[in-house]
Amino acid sequence: MKEPKRSVGLELLRQVAENATEILPADIDILTAQLGREPRGLVGIGARCACGVPAVTVTYPRLPDGSPFPTLFYLSLPWAVKAVSRIESAGEMAQMNERLGCEPDLAQSYAGAHLIYVKRRNLLEEIPQIGGKSAGGMPDRVKCLHALAAYALAAGKGICRFGDEVLERIGWDPDRCRCARS
Ligand SMILES: [Zn+2]
Repeated sequence: MKEPKRSVGLELLRQVAENATEILPADIDILTAQLGREPRGLVGIGARCACGVPAVTVTYPRLPDGSPFPTLFYLSLPWAVKAVSRIESAGEMAQMNERLGCEPDLAQSYAGAHLIYVKRRNLLEEIPQIGGKSAGGMPDRVKCLHALAAYALAAGKGICRFGDEVLERIGWDPDRCRCARS
């Protein structure tokens, strides 16, 4: 059975993620193929590939079955997921964690990105069980570059610096589709 779609409206969605767009009918099938399952709690598309297919999902902080869900932004675009995985395997996260330890303004900006993430999710609904939780290891560790890249794609440049760096490293270009090559 298909879950009833929750609608939050474009205005609120844009406050959550500057680059967000509403869900199009075709998105559900594309996301199901990307994720290998039907997306749950989907309220918007955080960013799209140049060809229009969803690149990032925006998920409501409570799933239809009632369980709290802290991951607001999730990278779904197959070629981008693969490209980020390659950077993770190259050991980039260890270097980022090291930099967090010795660059105070980077650490401060990363902690700020965490607070913004939580604040934006709270615009949808504040769920006490996940109140202090964000994603990707924020506020003080780097644990998942996919989560940080998804955040940067949805929120736009300048909010999550590590996410911005990852997008630069994979050569993300909003005007260039690389779907056919993945
Ligand atoms: Zn594409």
